[in-house]
Amino acid sequence: MSAATIDARPRTAAVTSRPTLTADLAAVAANTRTIAAHAPGSALMAVVKADGFGHGAADVARTALAAGATRLGVTSVDEALELRAAGIGAPILSWLNPVDADFAAAVAAGVDLAVPSREHLEAVIAAAPGAGRPARVHLHLDTGLARDGAPPAEWARLCSAARLAEQRGQLRVDGVMGHLACADVPADRSNAIGRTRFAWGVEVTRALGLRPAHRHLAATAATLTDPRTHHTLVRIGAGLAGIDPSRTVRLRPALTLTAPVVSVRRIRAGTPVGYGHAWTAPATTHLGLLPLGYADGLPRSASGRAEVLVRGRRRPLVGLLSMDQAVIDLGDDVVPPGEIATVFGPGDDGEPTTADWAAWAGTIEHEIVTGIGRRIARETACNEHLYAPVPIGAHCKSTATVPRSIR
Ligand SMILES: *Cc1c(COP(=O)(O)O)cnc(C)c1O
Repeated sequence: MSAATIDARPRTAAVTSRPTLTADLAAVAANTRTIAAHAPGSALMAVVKADGFGHGAADVARTALAAGATRLGVTSVDEALELRAAGIGAPILSWLNPVDADFAAAVAAGVDLAVPSREHLEAVIAAAPGAGRPARVHLHLDTGLARDGAPPAEWARLCSAARLAEQRGQLRVDGVMGHLACADVPADRSNAIGRTRFAWGVEVTRALGLRPAHRHLAATAATLTDPRTHHTLVRIGAGLAGIDPSRTVRLRPALTLTAPVVSVRRIRAGTPVGYGHAWTAPATTHLGLLPLGYADGLPRSASGRAEVLVRGRRRPLVGLLSMDQAVIDLGDDVVPPGEIATVFGPGDDGEPTTADWAAWAGTIEHEIVTGIGRRIARETACNEHLYAPVPIGAHCKSTATVPRSIR
């Protein structure tokens, strides 16, 4: 084909839509119920750290609470206070706090605090008098990650100090927590070691006179695979987002990311595309331009493998993903600018899933869902028609998408 037959002018059109991340709260509700059914004897804590795994912390919290969760978990006092500011009154536990976190504000807001060390215990005791109510803490034992939580060698001393503070009326020990390193691989030996260590840690609290109402070890994977980890409470984060790290239960992905094709151009065979000319068109083709890139959370390492769905067909991303732009190969299809590309979704219509993106980038779904950047517009949807007709709360009654409530 000669160059003269090529129309080199890109087609553009007024594009009113913009890249948008939609969280389907009905999927979050369905996941909450599915997981709760696996641990019928335990309460469910919805872990809504990292903005509810990128789904909107307050929206996920309200949805999970309406679907059976009774508590919330976060990894900073700030995240907890944001939930309170959104009008959420349910019990919240915050862990991973530095010793100089604003424990006074947390206690005043009725936020429970994980205590992994005696330094943390002293900081909570020091903060509580100004808070106007007693502090509630969950003692955190390291059950195998060597990351957060008190080492076993420190545990008895931490428990004794907490018991003394309880007797002085300085705080109330409401829970004991641990966490498992390899729960996504149920056969891993470390799970049995973690379970045994946790049981020992609970025994020590009892022997020292503590009576914590909540004992919790399991996150999503352990909850779905090992009832011995359930205790009185399970902490569920990834599962609410439709991610089962153990790959044993079918959960429902809740996020859909779309972007408009903002322009379309026809190029000749042999035309190199994008930075570094990493890809050269093998034949005459049409390229579509999407206005999002790695600054928006699409992993650059997925370049050369990733695809999106446009008009019912998978289209490959070509060349290197840019900071703000992605180029897709539309082949001979006449796709007008303004057409919507589905970057990922639940997969119902053949679109890629976040699991596909994770595989393309050599990472896990958690990193994809929590990585979508702030300049992507957020919406919530309530596709209740896809699920059992169980009402899930006043905020989720319509099938229309609405701007997300908190941002
Ligand atoms: C994030 C987190 C959870 C939730 O884990 P998922 O696997 O996402 O369910 C539970 N416990 C702790 C300590 C966490 O940091």
